[in-house]
Amino acid sequence: MSARLPLVPRPGYESLRAYSPGEERPCAIDLSDNTNLWGMPPAAAAALRDFPIDRATRYPSRYGEALKQVIAGRHGVSPEMVVTGPGSDGVLDAAIRAFAVPGARMALPEPTFVMAAPFAVMNGVTPVPVPLTPDYDADAEALLATDAELVYLCSPNNPTGRALRADTIERVIAGARGLVIIDEAYADFADGDAAALARRSDRVLLTRTLSKAFGLAGLRIGYGIAPADVVTAIEKARGPYAVSAHAEAAGIAALTEGSAWVAARVADARDSRTRLAAGLRALGLAPVESDANFLFVPAARASEIAESLAVAGIAVRAFRGLRAVSPALEASGGSALRITVGPAAVMDTLLESLAGIVGEGAAA
Ligand SMILES: *Cc1c(COP(=O)(O)O)cnc(C)c1O
Repeated sequence: MSARLPLVPRPGYESLRAYSPGEERPCAIDLSDNTNLWGMPPAAAAALRDFPIDRATRYPSRYGEALKQVIAGRHGVSPEMVVTGPGSDGVLDAAIRAFAVPGARMALPEPTFVMAAPFAVMNGVTPVPVPLTPDYDADAEALLATDAELVYLCSPNNPTGRALRADTIERVIAGARGLVIIDEAYADFADGDAAALARRSDRVLLTRTLSKAFGLAGLRIGYGIAPADVVTAIEKARGPYAVSAHAEAAGIAALTEGSAWVAARVADARDSRTRLAAGLRALGLAPVESDANFLFVPAARASEIAESLAVAGIAVRAFRGLRAVSPALEASGGSALRITVGPAAVMDTLLESLAGIVGEGAAA
């Protein structure tokens, strides 16, 4: 019998940590994860309540065929150009696996979505971070200069909140060696999106989620739009039955009867975003202009402020050690807050607590 092997995870796994965005203190008001603070579309809630319990004994559809039909209609593409997954995280993970061999590299902006680099590492791919420009756009030429096999872009970018410029995205698509992933988790809250660019290209995967604007983070529903052959490869990497039957039912309801409710809450979020930014500025803070449902606020005392807010029962996300790509991040030493936008009453509670913490003009 051969010698038994030590159980060693694949290379790179020693650098991975189980996801833990911050303090685990339970807070009555959670402004830390950019989910929909207005709730979910009533049509989705009804679909969940009416879901036949007996169907839980059967497998769901293999690749979310009915959900694909609805998504295809929404984006004006054929269902063959849609891939569904357990959150857009699931689509992203499968896409990296499908289109990069272990040892390949994935260029991505820095800072960006905290899970993008770990998904590369999980699949044996080396992340190559490229600093954002001082106005929080991606640096197209620097991304292309890495010569990486994959490029990941996030627009609007998490955590900075700004959408990438269309000509930046076009330049990356035009020059990329391989697949370009454009993570549009927050595109619902922006003025435009990259859907038209994606439809015209043979090498773009656009990812979207029902976790943010659609209010269904707990159900884990995401999707991608890409050329049919790209979709087929991602589905091979993803495997069948990845979206549960009740998630598919609620997702379809949210995207059809629920879509007017979602559009109204997106409008509410955009109004609330403007008011929150003004309220933060009145406290001496300097939020970055946002195209998403959160505000990014460089501040040297970000961690202390977040800790004080947590004591008051309000969770926000504090970042430390971010790459100082902008003058504001340079001044804050790479520290920043990220605050989810929600209903006006919740924002008022936040601003009242913040006023007591930062004092007039004393925030930076
Ligand atoms: C929240 C978020 C996601 C994750 O979405 P799921 O569909 O819940 O997996 C993906 N990308 C970005 C940038 C996000 O902020």
